[in-house]
Amino acid sequence: ILFQVNGHNPDSDAQSGKSLREDLQEFLGREAPLHQLDDLTKVNPVTLETVLRCLQARYMADTFYTNAGCTLVALNPFKPIPQLYLPELMREYHTAPQPQKLKPHVFSVGEQTYRNVKSLIEPVNQSIVVSGESGAGKTWTSRCLMKFYAVVAASPTSWESHKIAERIEQRILNSNPVMEAFGNACTLRNNNSSRFGKFIQLQLNRAQQMTGAAVQTYLLEKTRVACQASSERNFHIFYQVCKGASEDERLQWHLPKGAAFSWLPNPERNLEEDCFEVTREAMLHLGIDTPTQNNIFKVLAGLLHLGNIQFADSEDEAQPCQLMDNAKCSVRTSALLLQLPEDMLLETLRIRTIRAGRQQQVFRKPCSQTECDTRRDCVAKLVYARLFDWLVSVINSSICADPGSWTTFIGLLDVYGFESFPDNSLEQLCINYANEKLQQHFVAHYLRAQQEEYTVEGLEWSFVNYQDNQACLDLIEGSPISICALINEECRLNRPSSAAQLQTRIESALAGSLCLGHNKLSREPSFVVVHYAGPVRYHTAGLVEKNKDPVPPELTVLLQQSQDPLLMVLFPINPKEKTQEEPFGLSRAPVLTVVSKFKASLEQLLQVLHSTTPHYIRCIKPNSQGQAQTFLREEVLSQLEACGLVETIHISAAGFPIRQFLEACREDQTLMGPISPSPEQSPHSEEATLQPLLQDILHTLPALTQATATPGDSDEATPAPVHCG
Ligand code: ADP
Ligand code: MG
Repeated sequence: ILFQVNGHNPDSDAQSGKSLREDLQEFLGREAPLHQLDDLTKVNPVTLETVLRCLQARYMADTFYTNAGCTLVALNPFKPIPQLYLPELMREYHTAPQPQKLKPHVFSVGEQTYRNVKSLIEPVNQSIVVSGESGAGKTWTSRCLMKFYAVVAASPTSWESHKIAERIEQRILNSNPVMEAFGNACTLRNNNSSRFGKFIQLQLNRAQQMTGAAVQTYLLEKTRVACQASSERNFHIFYQVCKGASEDERLQWHLPKGAAFSWLPNPERNLEEDCFEVTREAMLHLGIDTPTQNNIFKVLAGLLHLGNIQFADSEDEAQPCQLMDNAKCSVRTSALLLQLPEDMLLETLRIRTIRAGRQQQVFRKPCSQTECDTRRDCVAKLVYARLFDWLVSVINSSICADPGSWTTFIGLLDVYGFESFPDNSLEQLCINYANEKLQQHFVAHYLRAQQEEYTVEGLEWSFVNYQDNQACLDLIEGSPISICALINEECRLNRPSSAAQLQTRIESALAGSLCLGHNKLSREPSFVVVHYAGPVRYHTAGLVEKNKDPVPPELTVLLQQSQDPLLMVLFPINPKEKTQEEPFGLSRAPVLTVVSKFKASLEQLLQVLHSTTPHYIRCIKPNSQGQAQTFLREEVLSQLEACGLVETIHISAAGFPIRQFLEACREDQTLMGPISPSPEQSPHSEEATLQPLLQDILHTLPALTQATATPGDSDEATPAPVHCG
């Protein structure tokens, strides 16, 4: 049939070098040039190759948004396109009778989501999940959506109320530069990389006006404050303070021009994110007054000086570590800025107290140089993490609407995408675990949406072949035995165990899981999890320690001695807290590990997402150099895999991958002669007959092309072309 349709015979095919598949694709996709296809489900057939070609064609035609069924694919243009984000365009999408009929755009998703809130029966909460790898444009996209809602969901008319509304919307927008200054950093993959996950709930009243917002953050990468990979930087705020402080402030905060700080690498890089004034202004709008701001910056300067305290190993183990040259000065300045007793600071960093025996006697043991470094870093992480959480709570109290003043919300989720590096650890395990959860949520939603579409079309279909990722989630978080459970168990038992032992325990306890991969090639102790987006090797070294994230109680006690107003708020003397930070093994209270805290917050997030109608935006980075007009197919492909779009395509291919308008099929009846339905069949069943047949043809194509290319080899094992008919 196909040969006739295309007027082909195998010989001329071999001469032109074109595969039958290409011809077929050309034939099927002849309605519109690839770059004009607004929806990836319209490429025919839906395969990785066609999807890639379509995205590439659109990218090269400066078209950055494409629908993929219920998902929006956003390609990062890596160049400013102001006309794409004008307020007029926002209004155009907002006032369009059918925004989904306009060109794919983040505003279209924003508008459809907004309209969805207003259901006829009762209002429904909505969420927009923005995903993608670092630098793909997630934060840009969520910022864009926030700006969109600040315009379209603003309170109208009355001058007085307009002023108030403007204030709240402006305040919500102002939370961005503040959170980015404290939570973003320049990394190898993105100059403005968010080092935390964020869920922001935009609160709407009955009239669908934005009355407030609430922010929830996840897993701030606090280690960055004391440790930055080479060529990367600390959080933006440190550079902003050092570059932007006035002469007077420099004196107060002991930040002379050109001073070198070991926790401030690559200060010579000037980024547009380094703008101190923008952060200060935004903080002011959020109600953080200048004295409080100055207090924050003084504490940050104190941390920078803390980082300059270098230890040298002591000759005599019974003696505390020596200080390196200049470190004395750093201790003094740091203690001064953090308003801590200088001797206590030095003592706490260098001497460990151990409780032992029945009476819990206290022993004092000098720390090694490495231990001193760890304790110093721990102080900084502790302060920074609490400061960040405190800032988020201040932002929330400034932007959150009164409980009675809102009825529905739109949630925006901007979380780190799937990660797979040569060296993966607990951070990647948590991130990929979150992505597995989100993927499961997405697939469940997508399948439902597809099924609904088929029902509307009168097509019968059951997804019998589809495997979801429950097995992988069981491996990671299942009860009673899973990777998380085993790592937590190690923390609870607090027994010395090597990385190799942890690997063995995981491998033997979870040997039955199909998602636990084995790769004997790696010399370092590790295990492999086969995620939906691909296998990832996690190194077991340091995993348990990271999961404990231990804070020696002496460090908290030290910070509780501070006379600094901000540190007094961050470290209140509160007996309840002490038991929480009891060293592992001493307390009988359940151990709050990184994994268990993350799991709890993730479950909470998913509960919220489940209660909403979700929308998805998948951000794609066309190249890792951040260059405009450059589309690297391999890189895009791996992201399509990692963001689950390939899965979506597979699901779509398992259903009805080829979609033709009924009219097009009618026109083609001469071509489709042998398979045209009998006239008494209903239009629905007519299409139903055509689609599975075309699908069959396509499934047979690879074999067919092979048979065509090597006619001589054709034997029983190769299906003959006649099977197609
Ligand atoms: P992510 O949050 O996914 O790590 P970002 O949102 O920070 O990535 O985007 C990285 C960079 O890419 C931005 O700083 C910006 O320069 C550029 N970018 C992203 N989306 C767009 C867009 N739609 N238009 C122009 N530039 C963009
Ligand atoms: Mg980001």
